[in-house]
Amino acid sequence: MLDKLFISKSIFDEMISHCREKYPNEACGILAGKGNETSKIYRMTNIENSSVSYFMDSKEQFKVMKDIRENNISMLAIFHSHPLSPAYPSAKDMRLAFYEDAVYVIVSLIENKPVVKGFEIREGEIKEIGIVVKI
Ligand SMILES: [Zn+2]
Repeated sequence: MLDKLFISKSIFDEMISHCREKYPNEACGILAGKGNETSKIYRMTNIENSSVSYFMDSKEQFKVMKDIRENNISMLAIFHSHPLSPAYPSAKDMRLAFYEDAVYVIVSLIENKPVVKGFEIREGEIKEIGIVVKI
């Protein structure tokens, strides 16, 4: 498992924009790349249209997974926003954390400056993974 996830400034900024655009609902998306370096962001639709939970559109996710394979990269992280709560996995996030090898990135929008944290969620255990933004 990764102990750090590197995200370029442009992808990081796009992730924050996506989260802000969907406010007050939760936004979600996928970060893909190689090793621990993110090279691509996919904005996803939250079919729950909710400010406290998200669920990705499965057809959209299928297309993204295909694109990831075709680009010879891997899904490294799944991100979503917490418009009204801190950057920490909710009980539902824990329950729905099916991808043990992915970093769950949470963008909290409760402060003026977004707080972004990464977590590995495995068998009910949460471990924080550092997020490094590269200029
Ligand atoms: Zn959440």
